[in-house]
Amino acid sequence: MRFLTGGYSQDADSLLNDALFTVSYDEMVIIKDIEVFSLCEHHLLPFFGKAHVAYIPRGKVVGLSKVPRLVDMFARRLQVQERLTVQIAEALEDKIKPRGVAVVIEAMHLCMIMRGVEKQNSVAVTSCMRGVFRDQVQTREEFLGLIRKKHAGLP
Ligand SMILES: [Zn+2]
Repeated sequence: MRFLTGGYSQDADSLLNDALFTVSYDEMVIIKDIEVFSLCEHHLLPFFGKAHVAYIPRGKVVGLSKVPRLVDMFARRLQVQERLTVQIAEALEDKIKPRGVAVVIEAMHLCMIMRGVEKQNSVAVTSCMRGVFRDQVQTREEFLGLIRKKHAGLP
């Protein structure tokens, strides 16, 4: 349990501060299919799935490997999926002030599968769109299209 809630003893500042870089790249950065394992705060049962994170920089990027670590940090707390989604987006927004940030999480909840409604295959999808991802349909569609795409030659 200490491991599963280890995210409480981390914060976005110490995680990201030494991995912020100034670049002139201003196109979309996407890190998709990030594995997520978390615990629902209502039932203390796992929920797990994939997170997809994108942003469009405004002069600053964050080291690519830091994004999954940011996801882990928030996932290793007692969570609701909606809040987890927003926290990831807000942390990036706060640290690199991008033109926009988007987070989608698709997850299965053992509290739905094992008990209650017993829906074995239902997936909960949450999203948080900020900046240009909220304001521009085209940008949002590009992101949603890219996270659905299978990449040839990659596992
Ligand atoms: Zn639950």
